[in-house]
Amino acid sequence: MASNELGSANANAAAAAVPELSVVVPIFNEGAVLPELLQRLAAALATTAPDYELVLVDDGSVDESPAILLGAAERDSRLRVLRFSRNFGHQAAVTAGIEHARGRAVVVIDADLQDPPEVIPELVAAWRQGYEVVSAVRTERPGESALRLLLIRTFYRVLKRIASVDMTPDAGDFRLLDRRVADALNRLPERNRYVRGLVRWLGFRHVEVRYKRAERFAGETKYPYAKLVRLALDGVTAFSNLPLQLVTWMGFAVFGLSLLLVVYGLLGRLFGGQTPAGWTSVFVAVAFLSGVQLVALGILGAYVSRIFEEVKGRPLYVIAFDSARARAPRP
Ligand code: UDP
Ligand code: MG
Repeated sequence: MASNELGSANANAAAAAVPELSVVVPIFNEGAVLPELLQRLAAALATTAPDYELVLVDDGSVDESPAILLGAAERDSRLRVLRFSRNFGHQAAVTAGIEHARGRAVVVIDADLQDPPEVIPELVAAWRQGYEVVSAVRTERPGESALRLLLIRTFYRVLKRIASVDMTPDAGDFRLLDRRVADALNRLPERNRYVRGLVRWLGFRHVEVRYKRAERFAGETKYPYAKLVRLALDGVTAFSNLPLQLVTWMGFAVFGLSLLLVVYGLLGRLFGGQTPAGWTSVFVAVAFLSGVQLVALGILGAYVSRIFEEVKGRPLYVIAFDSARARAPRP
């Protein structure tokens, strides 16, 4: 078995030496940002961890990103480009990057320079002090709409209250993972990848580094509200069963209410003489109950659809191109 592993490792030219640091970047239509990003990453890493690799995950971009990435990878062998066969989403790209990273520590950073590469040395310093998970926590997020910020802030605080693990509010995926944490993360079988939650679920020695989030360097956000809501629902359903318990409590509350109404109705019939006409009460009860039932069904559906995703067992992403394989000599 060992000789097989060695054999396949030898066949893969990219697996030669293990870099100290891997930097994973999910990329979706970031052509306007990439040249600046690559330059600032190289500058920030040059002094801190010159022995690094960049794992650039192209999540099915349809702009000039693939061409820029290819050109850069041809000039610098420390760059590895993985291209998905289509857009699989931010969390899938982050997962793929961490799975392919080989460094003794792995940093995940957004491409749009909202997470400044200049913070990476601070993350690395904390890692060298012995911390295994170093989360970069945003103290400010300029350039985003007030409504968006309010929703995001509220979401993080609600999730922290109801989640079964200790979530870090206001931390995205800008984070350093020790090799042991990355390996443990890669072994988690679930398809619902709310990566920032999974990392905290794993445990290990954790520390926060605070930073001011910058404005997006160029281009539009790749997270429209619909995607944001899906991410939020993934986070809630993966780390809390509270919505399901809520359905049960709603059921009890409605049941209690209906008992009162039964008693009221019976008393009225027995002692009141004439029964009330009752159209309004019937209408209100029917409307209220159908509302409650639909909400309950929706909550159940959110969990069932995620069970369905897990059971199907499809891969999280499909890689159409890997610069490490393209570089390796054909057998
Ligand atoms: N991204 C991705 N796939 C997607 C959407 C986004 O790989 O389907 C990348 C994007 O290129 C960026 C990061 O994920 O590097 C975060 O996206 P964005 O900055 O648009 O999100 P925001 O900061 O606005 O929440
Ligand atoms: Mg951004």
